[in-house]
Amino acid sequence: MPLLKVNRERLKRSMDQISTIGATPRGGMHRLALGDKDRQARDLLKRWCMDAGFPVRVDPIGNMFARRAGRHSDSPPVVIGSHLDSQCMAGRFDGPVGVIAALEVLRTLDDQRVVTQAPIDLVNWTNEEGARFSPPLLGSGVFTGAHDLDFALRQTDKEGLSVQQELVRIGYAGAGPVTLPVRKYIELHIEQGVVLEQAAIGIGVVTGFVGIRDTKVTVLGQSTHAGPLAMDSRRDALVGAAGMILAAREIGLAHGPDARVTIGKLAIPSDSHSVVPGCVEMVLDVRHPDAHRLNAVVFALQQRFRAMATDSGLAVHFEDSWYYPPVVFDSGLRSQIAEAAAGFGYSHMELPSRAGHDALNMARVAPTAMIFIPCRAGLSHNELEFAEDQDIAAGADVLLAAALAAAR
Ligand SMILES: [Zn+2]
Repeated sequence: MPLLKVNRERLKRSMDQISTIGATPRGGMHRLALGDKDRQARDLLKRWCMDAGFPVRVDPIGNMFARRAGRHSDSPPVVIGSHLDSQCMAGRFDGPVGVIAALEVLRTLDDQRVVTQAPIDLVNWTNEEGARFSPPLLGSGVFTGAHDLDFALRQTDKEGLSVQQELVRIGYAGAGPVTLPVRKYIELHIEQGVVLEQAAIGIGVVTGFVGIRDTKVTVLGQSTHAGPLAMDSRRDALVGAAGMILAAREIGLAHGPDARVTIGKLAIPSDSHSVVPGCVEMVLDVRHPDAHRLNAVVFALQQRFRAMATDSGLAVHFEDSWYYPPVVFDSGLRSQIAEAAAGFGYSHMELPSRAGHDALNMARVAPTAMIFIPCRAGLSHNELEFAEDQDIAAGADVLLAAALAAAR
């Protein structure tokens, strides 16, 4: 049987239409979670779903679910989707590609009168971006038990408006259970990197999320007046930290293409032009898809920093801030995605995700996978973010095939 494909014209029309809500002059998107533009985008999505006969349920944190029924109405659904909210003055593909492709999947199944065993639910998660309300991934975080509902509803934006107030105001404070069993979760998203583009590959089979370990590093020397003490007698913590920052880059490079080592936060408590810094605090951020290798990089960094401190008469202390272990996506779903891509004749490759997505939360409660498509020059969270129609359509075809396989 030939593989079913989505309706490309309808997919493009829907993408173009939803992109007008919150459109910026340079072709981008400004649609902050639970604002008026988010309300309009939600209303449009809801109308499309209702018109097509997919009833919409809104849960207490405002996540929207549209259901295409299966033969077994009591079976947990296959859930597909992403988010409609955006960062400030950002792109129109980050999120909506996954939601609108999911809608197109449901519509195509209806067109072809396909009967699935399990229901398939489209989801639009609330406040994925975290641009207006912190933390990000809020809706999926509540759904998967990472956050309490009350905690989430209490969060406020910088005007002091709460998630709860805004949900009520825009008419998306839903009811019912905060969570339900999910059979499988599949999310289509732009890559937000250059791996697919550089390899000229259309479909990314996402292997999982890289692990992230953040360590607070304190370098201690001795504060003193910038004048009297001779240069060779100083114990300048900032000079020590500068050497460590360069060493961090070198160690990151030495650990192959998968490691990422960043020092992006640094504080000098004395903060004065006339004081030789006696203390520097910085945060070391290390990322790697493999937990053992992640720890090996952190260990190598700490060893080098200690040796450098000793050589300069300084001390260095490490304190673990937080750790997100790597997430490995469901192998069955990954093979189904790869097989679907191959079946359509779309080039595909495996790659990890280096950015957070709702799938990160969902992987804790259900077999989960993601499909990536290329975006131009890896630009994202930027008005110039761009994905080709044909790549979006190919991603939607693969989403359709994978959802169908999961719901059979
Ligand atoms: Zn996104």
